[in-house]
Amino acid sequence: MSLAGRHAVVTGGSRGIGRAIASALEREGAHVSIVSRTPHVTLSVSKGDMGNAYFVAQADVTDEEQVRRAFAACREANGPIEILVNNSGIAESAPLKRTDRAMWDRIIATNLTGTYICTREAVPDMIAAQWGRIVNIASTAGLGGAPYLSAYCASKHGVIGFTRALAAELGTGGITVNAICPGYTETEMMQRTVANITTRTQKSEGEARELLARMNPGGRIATVEEVAEGVLDLIDGSQNGVELTIPRPAVR
Ligand code: NDP
Repeated sequence: MSLAGRHAVVTGGSRGIGRAIASALEREGAHVSIVSRTPHVTLSVSKGDMGNAYFVAQADVTDEEQVRRAFAACREANGPIEILVNNSGIAESAPLKRTDRAMWDRIIATNLTGTYICTREAVPDMIAAQWGRIVNIASTAGLGGAPYLSAYCASKHGVIGFTRALAAELGTGGITVNAICPGYTETEMMQRTVANITTRTQKSEGEARELLARMNPGGRIATVEEVAEGVLDLIDGSQNGVELTIPRPAVR
């Protein structure tokens, strides 16, 4: 697959999974725009492996006006949006009684409403071109339940429902909409989860990591590169309305 010259917007491409996705798209020849809240990411990811510059626009995905301005700037730099990867997200864990309204709203706003806001902003370009690829970074927490994650699980189940509905709505027009469901993946977000476990329990860091690995498909922690590879596979185009779980089952 060549994505030469295609314009891809990656939200939350400043670090972690989003950054790996931005790199992978750039290696396939795409012109990549990154949208996140942190302005200084321009310095750390200004050139990809292929030597193409990333365009970086600052926006909080929960703010419609900021997203509108950021996407307009991305369009001005790289043309109409053809690929959108909704990756921006936050995770917080707490039992229900400590999941207060502010925490609930924060998580739903970023993970679910942010995905809706960015998608609505990009889809008109795709409809006009009769070609588009949307990949939403959900989670295995979007497919099943886990304790102390009610807000996060609800937000990611919402992302899956949104993905399936849009796949049905847009799939006949040359646009595919799919989701990736990573299990625990080696990023700052996962490091915070490990730190949480070691602080709240008697477990060592190694034991905390083993615990998380055991919850994952395949019994191991995923890498950001595997998630990025999954995104490329879904962009390749033959599937619509699917959820791809990472790590993928080993082929025997
Ligand atoms: P990180 O915390 O490492 O990165 C999160 C990214 O999201 C950053 O680039 C951050 O940029 C951006 N972001 C957060 N809030 C906002 C916001 N309000 N507006 C715009 N951008 C925002 O997380 P990961 O890389 O680990 O996670 C990426 C995605 O993968 C998330 O959706 C997460 O839920 C999902 N995921 C992660 C797993 C894991 O174990 N790591 C497992 C399953 C799913 P900035 O701070 O600059 O805004």
